[in-house]
This record gives sequence, C-alpha cells and structure tokens, in this order.
Amino acid sequence: MRHIKWSIVLVVFALVAGLGLKKLRTGNEVSKEKFLFDTFCNVTAYGKDAGIATDDVFERLEEIHGLTNVFSEDSEVFRINSAKAGEVVEVSDELAEILTVAQSVEVASGGAFDVSIAPVVMLWQFDGEGRVPDDTEIAEALAVSGSGIIMFDKEKKTVVKSHDEAKIDLGGVAKGYAGDEAVRILAEYEVSGAIIDLGGNICCIGKNPNTANGKWRIGVQTPFAATGEYDEENIIEISEGAVVTSGTYQRYFEKDGKTYHHIIDPKTGRPAQRDYSSVTVVVSSSLLGDCLSTACFVVGGEEAEKLAEEFGAEIFIN
Ligand code: AMP
Ligand code: MG
Repeated sequence: MRHIKWSIVLVVFALVAGLGLKKLRTGNEVSKEKFLFDTFCNVTAYGKDAGIATDDVFERLEEIHGLTNVFSEDSEVFRINSAKAGEVVEVSDELAEILTVAQSVEVASGGAFDVSIAPVVMLWQFDGEGRVPDDTEIAEALAVSGSGIIMFDKEKKTVVKSHDEAKIDLGGVAKGYAGDEAVRILAEYEVSGAIIDLGGNICCIGKNPNTANGKWRIGVQTPFAATGEYDEENIIEISEGAVVTSGTYQRYFEKDGKTYHHIIDPKTGRPAQRDYSSVTVVVSSSLLGDCLSTACFVVGGEEAEKLAEEFGAEIFIN
C-alpha cells in the first residue's frame, strides 16, 4: 500500500515536472553569433531543440565558409582558381548547386551577375584597405572574366577554365546558399521558429513567438545609418522565406573624397554607379535571392523589376 502511494506521488511529480519542462522548452530561445563569410552571422531559434539545432547550423555554416572562401588554400574555390586552362575540375554537390543557380541568374541578367568577375573584384581589394586600379589593370582583368571564361557543366559537375588567370568569386552568393542550408537543418529539429541573419541575408522559418500573427518583421537597413537602423515604412513582414539585401554601404572604401563600393558592373569593371544605395529581394530561396539582389542592383530600374519577376521574386529599391 505504501509502495503504491509512493508510485502515485512519483507519477504526479513526474507529470508536474514534465509540464514544467515542456513550458520551459517551448519558451526556449537560443541566439548565437559568429563571424563567418566576412560578416556577423546570427541565428535565433525557438523551441525544444533550439540549442542543438543552432549548434548544428553553425557547424554547417563553417563547412560552407570553408568550401567557398576564396582566400583559403583548402577551399574548393581556391582549387578552381588555381587550376590551369583546360584542366577538368570536379566540383562537390554543394558547389554544383551554387553554380547552377548562379549560372541561371547570369544568363537571365545578361551577365550583370557573374561569378567570373573575381579577377576584377580582387583588383579593388575590398577585403583590405581598398585600392583604385588603373584602366589598364581593369581592362586586363575584364579580359579574363565574363561569358565563356568559366565553363560549368551542371550534369557532369565539372568546371573548365579557358584561361589560367580566370577565377570565381562566390561573395555574392555563398551566404545565400548558407541561409538555405540553415533553414534545411532547422526544419529537421523540433524548432517552432527561427530567424537567420547572415549579414543582410535573412531567412525565416516557423512562427515568430514575439508577434501576434506569428510573422517575422524585417526592417530594411537604412543605407549608411547605424547598423540596425531602419524606417517604419521599410519593414517587410513574411511567414517564411528569404529577404536579401545588396547595398553599397555594406562594403566600401573612400579615396580622395570618392566612395567605391563592392558591387561591380561587369560592363565597366568598376563599382556600379546608381542613384540608389540598396536592393532588397524577397523570395523563397536565399541562394536565388542572393544572386538576384546583386544582379538587380547592377541592372537597376525596370530591368531589375523584370528580372525579379522572372524568378518569382519581389524587389524593393532604396
Ligand atoms: P552581395 O553583397 O550579395 O551583393 O555581393 C557582393 C559581392 O559579390 C562582392 O563583395 C563581390 O565579392 C561579388 N561581386 C561583386 N560584383 C559582382 C557581380 N557583378 N556579380 C557577381 N558577384 C559580384
Ligand atoms: Mg548577392
């Protein structure tokens, strides 16, 4: 009899503890930040598995960073960039996925988005102090970039360069792929909602516990204002998907009173001079959004609207 009573007490205790634990878990919020892809990457997840899921996400982000980092001798991008003309370079499934989407946006944008722009980007040294190259240097770099320089075969998953000096730069697309991968991983866990911010590439999944309708409210950064500052009319509300911004204020340097930003117009080999500072793309895939935001910045105006529409995306020009 005594034994039975204790069992009942234990069961009740277990139930209460279980309920308490559940409440704690559903209210569980985990936020982590790391510097990757040359920017601050933040993941905030809610729900029972928020901690383990974010750990897993960051492990994957580091892998993708390792794969796509143009400066790391261990990266796949470095392997492609060091290959000789005519050499057949086999690429991983990840790189093939990135290059497939990049290629489709390159074709649709008439080359405004082009990962083979790397030799030109490198001249400007945006990753360092910044440097203004002369006309000859730009002409030489443009001669080893553009259509036909990097041949990617999506069926065979191979890359062949037509010039030793041809290179790729995934700076305009790697974070996008990483955002999609983060979403894929989070969806495998018991996570009620999550928001991923990879330096201007935002992805959302599930419900936002801090809004009445469960939607995510993303404020588009006011160009050149303090980080995190946005206008009330520039808030985008979404249930899921990606909001990706390309802006002149994200990376630039000043020389002799002039500002030079990091989005290159492949037609000139110089920063795309436009009368706006940023383009924000709202679309389901962040990989596609990343290619499109850079492409739409370069083409601008009605052409940008048409390009976005072609891929089922919405754009905001600021
Ligand atoms: P994002 O911030 O996504 O617009 O990407 C800008 C980055 O993409 C730059 O820092 C360069 O590494 C690279 N980039 C610059 N111009 C282009 C271009 N026209 N096409 C593809 N990548 C580019
Ligand atoms: Mg981009």
